[in-house]
Amino acid sequence: MTMISDQSPINFQDDLPDSTDVVVIGAGVAGISTAWFLTQMGVRVLVCDKGRVAGEQSSRNWGWVRQQGRDAAELPIMIDSIGLWESISREVGGDVGFTRQGIMYLAKNDSELAEYDKWLDIARPYQLDSRMLTASEINDQLGQTGSTQLWKGALFTPSDGRAEPFTAVPAMARNLQSKGVLIRENCAVRCLDIEAGRVAGVVTEHGRVNAPTVVCCGGAWSTLFLGNSGIELPQLTVRSTVARTEPTEEFFSGAATGADIAFRRRQDGGYTIAPGGINEHFISLDSFRFFFKFLPVLIENSRTIRLPLDADLIRRLLPTRHWSSEEVSPFEINRVLNPEPSRAGIDNMRRGLKKYVPALADVKFAEIWAGMIDVTPDVVPVMDEIDQCPGLFVATGFSGHGFGIGPGAGKVMATMIMGKDPQYDLSRFRFSRFSDGSKMVPGPGL
Ligand SMILES: Cc1cc2nc3c(=O)[nH]c(=O)nc-3n(C[C@H](O)[C@H](O)[C@H](O)COP(=O)(O)OP(=O)(O)OC[C@H]3O[C@@H](n4cnc5c(N)ncnc54)[C@H](O)[C@@H]3O)c2cc1C
Repeated sequence: MTMISDQSPINFQDDLPDSTDVVVIGAGVAGISTAWFLTQMGVRVLVCDKGRVAGEQSSRNWGWVRQQGRDAAELPIMIDSIGLWESISREVGGDVGFTRQGIMYLAKNDSELAEYDKWLDIARPYQLDSRMLTASEINDQLGQTGSTQLWKGALFTPSDGRAEPFTAVPAMARNLQSKGVLIRENCAVRCLDIEAGRVAGVVTEHGRVNAPTVVCCGGAWSTLFLGNSGIELPQLTVRSTVARTEPTEEFFSGAATGADIAFRRRQDGGYTIAPGGINEHFISLDSFRFFFKFLPVLIENSRTIRLPLDADLIRRLLPTRHWSSEEVSPFEINRVLNPEPSRAGIDNMRRGLKKYVPALADVKFAEIWAGMIDVTPDVVPVMDEIDQCPGLFVATGFSGHGFGIGPGAGKVMATMIMGKDPQYDLSRFRFSRFSDGSKMVPGPGL
């Protein structure tokens, strides 16, 4: 199994209905999970993706299903989400690859240690099993001696998990299809169909579908899609580079990060590797439009943000064009966002492994890829109905940690759409926070 791209076979080709109860735009983990829980509630759903199911972030991520280090408002949803991964996994089978093997944040110095220790205050009310590890306990976990002298300690949550991004969401989609959910790949939604100020459906490249409810789970494309209907969503993207190794002997069965290197065991016997400390943002017109909203998070992450220059810069600085339902939209032109991996990222991985993870120092990379992460100014998602357009719901901006919380977010969205009480405080995820003068407090990082 390799990375999903626009060359991958089309697996979902259901006919578009004339009408349905809910149209979900985007077949990533957010869209497919929303469809999953709507289906459980007896709702008819159509999911459209401009490219492939999980072709973008939802297959390109590290596969960490992490409660540890979460924003306080996300944590209760995430704790439920990890239980949902378990039940989805039981129903869908092995392709989900979910297992609880623990996640570890390794600290090089006292200030990192203090930061991790502070997060335990957020976890305490939930009786999570998160705890601090000593250097010798790290040694036991990683089964290495030399490297652990580098670590002062770690934050560890044994009940955290991992799942397999290449296969998990497509497997959920196949299961949904068997229950009657319609899923269509290579089907860009060009525009919302709005009548008398509320959603009446969507116009896709293959025709119109009537629906009283539409959910935008468009990941990195949500700002562009919503902008065409006059709805401003401040969201930017950062490129992140990842590699998977050839199968190799297991020295650690969970996931860990520290000193700018991240690794996790894979179901196929390899490890997924990433350079922890690089977030590359390609400057665009949106970077200037949203500059002040993103300033706090820019300052907080200044050590890791890089601004590479490339030949496409001029094009990205041009004003965003608007299109009608009759015109080919940008979503059909770029089916699967498949950025080039970053050279600096690859070099950092190699250096990081050599220095900090001797067991993987010489292991071969079987595949290297990159993904574009959607980020909001406060590094937490939007999960909300849009007041200015009743019937339109948005679940986007998961800011580098939406895979793990995906099932939980899908359940929140389905519950919200059905007008029921999601039983969480969702005020931090309101769409209106970007325009009503709310103070944007960045969550704990990408
Ligand atoms: C390198 C990397 C590492 C990460 N690591 C982790 C991790 O370890 N753990 C974790 O929890 N999270 C991680 N994340 C973040 C996580 O992958 C995302 O937050 C999550 O997958 C977002 O899911 P989504 O469904 O919102 O978006 P996506 O998966 O990006 O899906 C959006 C979909 O919408 C489709 N779409 C957009 N516009 C339209 C349109 N107009 N019509 C039709 N379709 C449309 C796109 O084609 C796309 O398939 C990582 C992300 C990356 C890139």
